[in-house]
Amino acid sequence: MKERLHKRLQNIRAAGNYREIKYLKPISATRILYEGREYLNLCSNSYLSLHVHPEVMRAAAEAIGDYGAGTCSSRSVSGSIDSYRDLEVEVAAFKQYGRALIFPNGYMANIGIISTLTDEWDVIFTDELNHSSLIDSTRLSRAKKVVYRHLDMSDLEKRIRKERTGGKKFVVTETVFSMDGDLAPLGELLRLKEKYGLHVVVDEAHATGVFGPAGIGVEEVFGVTGKMDVQMGTFGKALGSFGAFVLSDEVTIDYLVNRARTFMYTTALPASTLAASRQALRLVSGDRTYKDELWDKVRRMREGLLGMGFDLKESQGPIIPIVVGDDHKAVEAQRRLMGRGIFLQAIRPPTVPSGTARLRLTVIRDLTPQDIEYALDAIGVVGREMGLV
Ligand SMILES: *Cc1c(COP(=O)(O)O)cnc(C)c1O
Repeated sequence: MKERLHKRLQNIRAAGNYREIKYLKPISATRILYEGREYLNLCSNSYLSLHVHPEVMRAAAEAIGDYGAGTCSSRSVSGSIDSYRDLEVEVAAFKQYGRALIFPNGYMANIGIISTLTDEWDVIFTDELNHSSLIDSTRLSRAKKVVYRHLDMSDLEKRIRKERTGGKKFVVTETVFSMDGDLAPLGELLRLKEKYGLHVVVDEAHATGVFGPAGIGVEEVFGVTGKMDVQMGTFGKALGSFGAFVLSDEVTIDYLVNRARTFMYTTALPASTLAASRQALRLVSGDRTYKDELWDKVRRMREGLLGMGFDLKESQGPIIPIVVGDDHKAVEAQRRLMGRGIFLQAIRPPTVPSGTARLRLTVIRDLTPQDIEYALDAIGVVGREMGLV
């Protein structure tokens, strides 16, 4: 066994695809300490920097005082503390859906939704660049899977027309793609949903708190808030905490409570996590300046990169992919940026398709204008050295 794994690891290394855990210490929202050196962190998903917001941290600390460190039971047994009910009501109201159900995290929420709601005679249409949690969820489902071209609604429609089934047709997509930063055309998707009676599941993991005038998500951008069959979103990104929510109607949520295995068979979240999520949600829904401040920084970073000739593909927000292509080259670019005090990761297969290895940088609200200029300068130097611009 060990020999077999050793050999495979050698192949992974030879392909420039080896991953190693980096243990680090965060100093602030934007700075980390790694092997004795301080770096500017350009790969956090805490877009609004709320994980270090004093009110969010205080809410978590107070909840520990009231409820203890853990719940030590699954939600179906004695883990559904009242903090869950408050947060579920508030997130459903913010997102304009009938009901919300909190899962331990987004990965488990996605696995739970798709595998529980689909039957073997159904068909799932899935975007070719969907997140691993969505891919794994379709693998666990017994429904037929049909992969459509990334964001291509006419390809999707063609495949829908071709598929004969006595069951239901599901479409599953991220709304902001996590490695590309581009947006699914939800208006067009809603039109297809109505035309063909589809069941649409959207993943707003990277959109919640970031996109739309009120930060509701990409649904808000396209004027389709609350109109999908099921939405998943996380507290672990812009909301700075941990955990995930599923939004839908009463019946669907009730069914998930009774049948979703990733909901039923795992320990409930600690009260501190729920309290932090609730406080973050209150900040975001009560005050648009968090989001507006983020977008000022996003605009400056994108403008700077585009000005130097970087190709940012179709990305639109704080997730900025700089596609390098070759895995080794992406790792080398990462190494050079780390040499200049910038911490980010080379994203390689199987996270992204082969031949599209990239640097994925993210902009967060706590970056200062000086941080951004420093980052642009360093990325420009490395980009020129490596022939990326
Ligand atoms: C991060 C992410 C998830 C998983 O959410 P977690 O709460 O981190 O488990 C699911 N879908 C997408 C698109 C993501 O980016």
